[in-house]
Amino acid sequence: MAADSRVIAVDVGGTSIKAALVDRDLTAVHAVREPTRRVGGVADVDQIAELITALADTQPVAGVGVAVPGIVDDGTGIVRAAVNLGWTDVPLRDLLAARTGLPLLVHHDVRTGGLAEFTVGAAAGADNALFVAIGTGIAAAVRVDGHLLGAGGYAGEIGHVVVDPDGTLCTCGTRGCLETLAAAPAVARRYRERSGRSIVDAAEVVGLVADGDPAAVTVWDDAVGALATALTAAVTLLGPEIVVLGGGLAEAGEILVSPVREQLAKRLTFQRRPVVVRAELGQDAGRAGAALLGWRAASG
Ligand SMILES: [Zn+2]
Repeated sequence: MAADSRVIAVDVGGTSIKAALVDRDLTAVHAVREPTRRVGGVADVDQIAELITALADTQPVAGVGVAVPGIVDDGTGIVRAAVNLGWTDVPLRDLLAARTGLPLLVHHDVRTGGLAEFTVGAAAGADNALFVAIGTGIAAAVRVDGHLLGAGGYAGEIGHVVVDPDGTLCTCGTRGCLETLAAAPAVARRYRERSGRSIVDAAEVVGLVADGDPAAVTVWDDAVGALATALTAAVTLLGPEIVVLGGGLAEAGEILVSPVREQLAKRLTFQRRPVVVRAELGQDAGRAGAALLGWRAASG
C-alpha cells in the first residue's frame, strides 16, 4: 500500500449515494453525492461501482468500505433485504469487488455508524457499548466484549422491540414497536393527529417542545418513555457501559438525551448503569465508519 494512499467510503441510501476519498485520519479530501439510480425500481449496483472506479482513477486507493441500510450480513457482504433499494439477497461485496478490483467490505449502515462511534467517537475505548440511531427508522449497533454483533444481519433491530402491544401498526406488521412512537416520522405524525396542525417534520416538534406546546410535550414524553422502555430491555440483556444516541432525532441534543437518561435511570435496579450521551460524530458517523471499514479491507 502506497504511503499516501487513501480509502473510499460509500454510504448507500434510498434517495442518494454518497462517496468520499478519506485520509488515514478519517478526513474526507473529496466527496461526491448522486441521486440513487434505479432500473425497474431497483437501485442500480453499477452506479456504485462507477462512483468507486471514478474516485479510484484519481489516486491510489487501498480499500473501500460500503454502508447499506436494511438487513445486511456484514460477514459475507450480502444484502438480505433493503426495502428502500428494492434489493433481496444481493451479494453486494462480491459484485463490487469484481467490478472495481479493490479490497472491499460491505456493512449495515447503523453498525457502520456505530463502528465509528465505538472507535473514534463518543464510546471510544468502551468494550461494551450500544449505539442507537433514531431517524426515519430506529436501529442499534451493539458492541459486547469488544466485538460488534452482527448475527448475519439480524442483530440490533431495537426499533421493532414492542413497547405497546395495543399500539399502532408498524411497517413490519407488528403493533406498538418502538418506531411507532419514537422514530422521526412517528413523532411528526402523532403531533399532527393531536394538534390538527400541519407540522411536516420531527425537528419542528422539537422546537415546539422547547416552547412548551402541550401536544408536542405529550408526544415527546411518549417517545422518550418508549425509548427508555426499549433501552431498559437492551441494557438488561447486553450490559453496556455507555449508550450513545445518534441519528437525525438526536440532533435535538439534551432535549432528547436528558429525559431518556433520567427515565432509563429510574427503570434500572440491579443492572449496570450506563452513561447516556449524544453521538459525537453526528451526520459524519456513516462516512467515518465506512472509511474505517475501507482501512480494515485494505489490511486484509
Ligand atoms: Zn415494527
